[in-house]
Amino acid sequence: MSDQELQRLVEAVSLRDFHRPFVHRATFNRRLRSTGGRFHLPDENLDFNPSLFAAEDETVRIGIIRHELCHYHLYRMHRGYHHRDQDFKQLLAQVGGLRYAPRLTSKPVRYLYRCSYCGLEYPRQRRMNLRRFACGRCHHPLVLVAVN
Ligand SMILES: [Zn+2]
Ligand SMILES: [Zn+2]
Repeated sequence: MSDQELQRLVEAVSLRDFHRPFVHRATFNRRLRSTGGRFHLPDENLDFNPSLFAAEDETVRIGIIRHELCHYHLYRMHRGYHHRDQDFKQLLAQVGGLRYAPRLTSKPVRYLYRCSYCGLEYPRQRRMNLRRFACGRCHHPLVLVAVN
């Protein structure tokens, strides 16, 4: 999907589900990692995670667009546009937006730790300081079992 197609899709979802026009820019942002999209202030543009759009189906794409449009329209109506706000929660439920972006295909695990007592595993991208971290379940020390 190109930026232009994305722009048209966001405009269409805005009119259909919010009955209000989207009059700013929607673009893909390759630097977005953990989120599906972002409402950007002060310019009021939206950007979206290209890998999420490529990988996931229509329902997910529309759900992410609706989520970002909830931020957008509530902000412009001077209502609560943050996740914690009641206005946001209500509008999101009303239009059927996604509460959280689905997890992206996970990055390869570099460090694998395991609890020395209960065996619970802790895959991590970064090295952990084993003096400071213990097992979250049983509080026993962790050991490093694999490095990739
Ligand atoms: Zn959000
Ligand atoms: Zn444990």
